[in-house]
Amino acid sequence: MNESTAGPGRSSSQSATADEVRDGERPAAVRTEDLWKVFEHDDIRVEAVRGVTFRIDSGEFVVLAGPSGSGKTTLLNLIGGLTRPTDGQVWVDGREIGSLPDRDLAEIRLERVGFVFQAYNLLPVLTALENAEFTLLLRGVPAAERRSRVEKLFERIGIAGLEDRLPGKLSGGQQQRVAVARAVVGRPALVLADEPTANLDTATSASLIDLMAELNRELGTTFVFATHDPLLMERARRNVRLVDGSIVADERRD
Ligand code: ADP
Ligand code: MG
Repeated sequence: MNESTAGPGRSSSQSATADEVRDGERPAAVRTEDLWKVFEHDDIRVEAVRGVTFRIDSGEFVVLAGPSGSGKTTLLNLIGGLTRPTDGQVWVDGREIGSLPDRDLAEIRLERVGFVFQAYNLLPVLTALENAEFTLLLRGVPAAERRSRVEKLFERIGIAGLEDRLPGKLSGGQQQRVAVARAVVGRPALVLADEPTANLDTATSASLIDLMAELNRELGTTFVFATHDPLLMERARRNVRLVDGSIVADERRD
């Protein structure tokens, strides 16, 4: 199915500027303004994200919740620069990314954003270490430093000694820890995780959520999840609820 290039027929907002930070406010890790994503194919048109305006502060641990098909993945992919908006704007770390040239967008993804996926998405022919160090490799970090950073991180997240295993020789929980290591090893400002616990049993999910909450606290990394896992929703300090591509509730707790 092709992504539509035509807008939803409204003029885009002129009001937003990238760096509005009011006194005493933390900088926005993510901000969107009237964000739309429309998929069109032949005579079928799906408005997956419908005019979403919100912000996520730096250091938040936030869940995008909602039923299947509500637009969670699409919104996450817009925030991560994996999908282009049909209309509206999205800022990551103060930069509007929706209209950036591909090369600049790829650089932002590499430098600023880490991704965790439901199916782990490790490369099966690479070892755990090689998978985890991948973004450092792309950034030109020397091999010895890559290994030492990954080894420290593996120690920290409870998978020390598994560096040379192939993903096929790891459990699901271990693979997802490697995927989390890959996402955070480059110290991105933002980690986006799409249904990261959906393939894990309850105990394994709980310990993975603990791990991500600790990394959030220790490193100050912003975590944004798309999920309908109650365990993860309970642990988030903020739940943004989507229905049919729109935000219908936004609840914070301390
Ligand atoms: P969720 O992650 O909440 O399940 P998605 O963001 O995957 O929701 O999907 C939202 C809506 O957009 C659904 O109706 C889905 O079928 C549709 N959609 C998502 N991606 C595409 C695509 N590439 N082409 C066409 N429709 C899509
Ligand atoms: Mg999804």
